[in-house]
Amino acid sequence: MTAINPFESAMKQLEKAHTVLKASKKKLTNIDRKVAVLRVPQRQVNVTIPVVMDDGTQKIFEGYRVQFNNARGPYKGGIRYHHNVSLDEVKALSFWMAMKCAVADLPLGGGKGGIILDPKMLSQGELERVSRGYGNAIADFIGPDLDVPAPDVNTNGVIMGWMVDEFLKVQRKKAKAFGVTLSKKDERKLTSTFTGKAIKDGGSEGREEATGLGGLFVLQAILKRLKLKGTLTAAVQGFGNVGYNVAKFLDEAGIRVVAVSDSKGGIYVAEGINPALTLECKKKNGYLAGCYCSGSVCDLKKGKQVTNESLLELPVDILVPAALENALTRENAAKVKAKVVLEMANGPTTPEADTILYKKGIPVIPDILSNSGGVTVSAFEWEQNRKGQHWTKTQVNQKLAKKMADAAGAVWDASVTHKTDLRTAAFVVALERILTAMK
Ligand code: GLU
Repeated sequence: MTAINPFESAMKQLEKAHTVLKASKKKLTNIDRKVAVLRVPQRQVNVTIPVVMDDGTQKIFEGYRVQFNNARGPYKGGIRYHHNVSLDEVKALSFWMAMKCAVADLPLGGGKGGIILDPKMLSQGELERVSRGYGNAIADFIGPDLDVPAPDVNTNGVIMGWMVDEFLKVQRKKAKAFGVTLSKKDERKLTSTFTGKAIKDGGSEGREEATGLGGLFVLQAILKRLKLKGTLTAAVQGFGNVGYNVAKFLDEAGIRVVAVSDSKGGIYVAEGINPALTLECKKKNGYLAGCYCSGSVCDLKKGKQVTNESLLELPVDILVPAALENALTRENAAKVKAKVVLEMANGPTTPEADTILYKKGIPVIPDILSNSGGVTVSAFEWEQNRKGQHWTKTQVNQKLAKKMADAAGAVWDASVTHKTDLRTAAFVVALERILTAMK
């Protein structure tokens, strides 16, 4: 099997939406010329980060920041740490960010960053040094009105804190060269360059769980339109920040989460897992196997082990790929038994798998809609920092609920108008908004 290039997949998705939009009666000028601009990133930054390791040797890490499009506002998107990070992956992810921010109707464009590394192989000190090195290396290319990074796979608020710190050091030095000292207010505005920060560093309430909660809101909006009711079951691939939180919110909403997995494999518990207990057990053991936690107990007799591959083929109502790209491909899409797929990872379904699922009548709620809750609360954080405000969790979640309901409604309506699948509909909604903003 040849490796699937996520950027090629992203461009196929764009092409499909482009064709639908052109065939529609929408009054847009210079569509072809503008779409051609959307096939290439506006800027790609390639950085190298020399790090002294704990044993005294030096290692040089490679990283990227891709700024795809800023027609609707500053570039926006996370920074990923993974051993499989590549330029084409970061390009795809940054393109999807531009589409995602447009679907959620945020005044932001799309960007993404990544470093090729396996965080499990680094000590806390090494992780801090590489993160600070990256923050310093991209400092000239980011800013509150230019490019606003955030966490992604294997990064979090602590890492954002190190990067903000490095970024501020560079800005203070620049100001000093002009004989200026930055005021507290200047520095506060500059911290809005990063979102997904810890609350003590200016982060927003609700940001950590926003992607998961947003996913639930989108799912509820689509289930209502699909008229899918009753007691539903779900399987979640991925148990990181997004996978865990979506499992937690599905469970709280009365959806029985019967299977979850992480990179090492997964578990199946017919009664439905208790996400919080399962996470606790996983932290203690280091893996999910044996963490058959349901109700208020973990019991070895209650469940069984499943592989990541077989989890995707379980007879559940809702399948939630919440790990990495290319989980559903032409090899396994025909074996999916779920009634609906909720994409919480970025790019988990290849275009070939999309076609197979569509023919099988399985709606796929696309990533750029279902996981847009994270960047939506990032946009709230950015706004709060700029205005010097701190909203309550209730305020944040109410605003998030409204944004997600509006986005899901717009995508559903576009799928009806253009008689197309939800992904193409989401791309059409995003494309129309981006093309309108482009000169
Ligand atoms: N990494 C998240 C995503 O892929 C969030 C990005 C952000 O908050 O800027 O949507």
